[in-house]
Amino acid sequence: MKTIAIGRNYVEHIAELNNERPEEPVIFTKPDTAIVRNNQPFYIPDFSVDIHYEVELVLRIAKTGKNINERFAPRYYDAIGLGIDFTARDMQKKAKEKGLPWALAKGFDGSAPISDFFPMEHFHDIKNISFSLTINGELRQKGNSGMMLFSFDHIIAYVSKYITLKEGDLIFTGTPKGVGSIKIGDLLAGFIEDEKVLEFEIR
Ligand code: MG
Repeated sequence: MKTIAIGRNYVEHIAELNNERPEEPVIFTKPDTAIVRNNQPFYIPDFSVDIHYEVELVLRIAKTGKNINERFAPRYYDAIGLGIDFTARDMQKKAKEKGLPWALAKGFDGSAPISDFFPMEHFHDIKNISFSLTINGELRQKGNSGMMLFSFDHIIAYVSKYITLKEGDLIFTGTPKGVGSIKIGDLLAGFIEDEKVLEFEIR
């Protein structure tokens, strides 16, 4: 099982980090040891003093696919959940400056808490799924799948040109604006529409 993530998929988030708007999706991966389930706490690692939260919709891949045509992409994912793409922003900033990979800044242990997944029938329109993140009850991020630069189907088609997708793989689809730092004691809660699907503590 692998986790693939898309960077820079929401225009206002690209602006807040002063990044360039990409012509194709920006792709990175997280190892399976990044995944955390069941609302387990997130432990701030000692190698970073600036861990950022990024709330994202996450696709679950339903079957093996390679070179998937965008038209047929909906056959290849069967559920959507919510995840946090924790990022060691200080490490990522240094890596960016040197033109080096983000692997450690994005892929460290525990950097990808995920919710349960909901079958596609749960959503009336996948181009209009709203989601949000609160910290200690205060709204920090709010997004909608309709605002993505690259749609779910485009992402599936693009990634599968290079990497074979397999059943159970996850794709983080990018974060909207409002990213920021966490601190010990924070309580993060993630919502799809008005339903709380994720809630865990920072330790
Ligand atoms: Mg992200």
